[in-house]
Amino acid sequence: MNATYHAQNDEGDASHAYRLLYNLVYCSRVAPGVDDAAVARIIASARRNNPEQGITGLLVFGSGIFFQWLEGPRDNVTQLMALIAADPRHGNVVTISSSEELRERLFPDWDMELVDSADIRAVLLDAKQNASEARHRLALGQLLKELDAGQLCELGKA
Ligand code: FAD
Repeated sequence: MNATYHAQNDEGDASHAYRLLYNLVYCSRVAPGVDDAAVARIIASARRNNPEQGITGLLVFGSGIFFQWLEGPRDNVTQLMALIAADPRHGNVVTISSSEELRERLFPDWDMELVDSADIRAVLLDAKQNASEARHRLALGQLLKELDAGQLCELGKA
């Protein structure tokens, strides 16, 4: 990645501060042969690379589906997403949402947290309860609704 983002300079001690953040959410189908060990390697790459790009988020792995929430500076997230989209460890990559706004990070302490698909409901609920802005509670509420209706990542299965 070309753009270097020094999280330290921008974040300082105020990881909960408002900043211009680009948020990208996608899901995809896990490629055959990708197991827990392969996902552990993906998470290791993410934890090595994401901090200097100012990128945080979570990766859900389960039922043959990846679901990832990325947030950070627009250029850095866009460049990372280009790498991820070309990664042979998954396919059928479908963007669920993307937006750029001045806001707090929803997952300020997570370079890239691996969440079991059984736990995603609790993670989204927790983020919703901690979100200080109504529109974020709304967005997370919508994701929860889609999850409960079994619609989340339906496209990734196509
Ligand atoms: P390394 O991690 O050292 O990997 C070296 C090269 O080997 C890379 O080109 C990598 O693509 C390739 N590689 C390694 N193992 C395999 C394998 N089993 N099959 C095919 N190719 C392999 N990267 C991040 O930095 N941050 C993220 O948040 C992130 N999320 C991801 C989410 C998903 C669902 C997937 C599939 C990948 C994700 N990646 C993420 C990995 C990303 O696609 C790149 O592989 C990674 O950024 C390259 O990092 P690196 O240059 O440090 O190379």
